[in-house]
Amino acid sequence: MSRRPEADYVVGVDIGGTNLNVGILPFAGGEPLAFRTQATEAQRGAKFVVDRVVRMIQEAMKEVMEANGRGPEAFAGIGIGSPGPLERKTGTVISTPNLGWRNFPLRDLIQNAVGLPATLDNDANAATYGEWWMGAGRGVNSLVGVTLGTGIGGGIVLNGELYHGAADAAAEIGHMTIDSTGRKCKCGNYGCVEAYASGPAIAARAIEGLESGASSVLLELAGDLQAVTAETVFEAVVLGDPYATEVMHDTAKFLGVGLANVINILNPEVLVISGGVTRAGDHLFDPLRTEVRRRAFRVAEQACRILPSGLGGKAGVIGAVACFKREKYGKV
Ligand SMILES: [Zn+2]
Repeated sequence: MSRRPEADYVVGVDIGGTNLNVGILPFAGGEPLAFRTQATEAQRGAKFVVDRVVRMIQEAMKEVMEANGRGPEAFAGIGIGSPGPLERKTGTVISTPNLGWRNFPLRDLIQNAVGLPATLDNDANAATYGEWWMGAGRGVNSLVGVTLGTGIGGGIVLNGELYHGAADAAAEIGHMTIDSTGRKCKCGNYGCVEAYASGPAIAARAIEGLESGASSVLLELAGDLQAVTAETVFEAVVLGDPYATEVMHDTAKFLGVGLANVINILNPEVLVISGGVTRAGDHLFDPLRTEVRRRAFRVAEQACRILPSGLGGKAGVIGAVACFKREKYGKV
């Protein structure tokens, strides 16, 4: 398919368990225009979420059309990033524990409601491709992205292309086993990286330590034990709390074990880490780099730059546009 010459924009959609992001990119790339965020409110049902996304897209398109005196012909299409597993070919989300969708034809519902061609890819893949296209790993040959949030997502770019695997299920870095008899993961397995270093896992480990008598400012910050979150741990680290700092160091070590495996297997040029936890800055990145250095092969470790996200919360939208361009036109 070739692009209509008048199509100067592509819509990017990033669907998350907590928030929906929509923005519009100039075809050649750039800062998202008419960027907007709304709560997902997945508990109100799949139709509610799709209707909300469609309305956000229509409002963003209207804003860009009015600002530039253009009509709907100015838009080439819509790139969508969604939690998976999913099937790109049919545009179907196979299942998402956080959103409660099963065999859900997300791409076509949005495509038909808006009246523009659309593509669907995994949200972490999209964010990783965004970092490769316009972010921390701009234009490198090989890049791995890791998103730390409620879960841990991953994406792999090899030779400038996203690597999807045989069934669009590649790069599930969060579900790499780092301890065969370790903590139970939401996926049903034991000892996954996600069971140690996701936001809820950080909170759970912090609470366990407090229950066994660790003294910390955490309790005071959170109000009560069960209200401790990864965010509270981060706040306490900034305040110099030794126990919270220990929890953050442990988090970096667990992540470092997983990332050393990734570096040994793929030998990437850049590893981009994004998500709320990265706001801990050096408290996270210093012990993380140390652990990777201890474990990964020296040549691979020395060739790899471990960097925070360059696009922050906009990586998913920008990357969804990159995925659309790649799928529809063969290049970004
Ligand atoms: Zn798992």
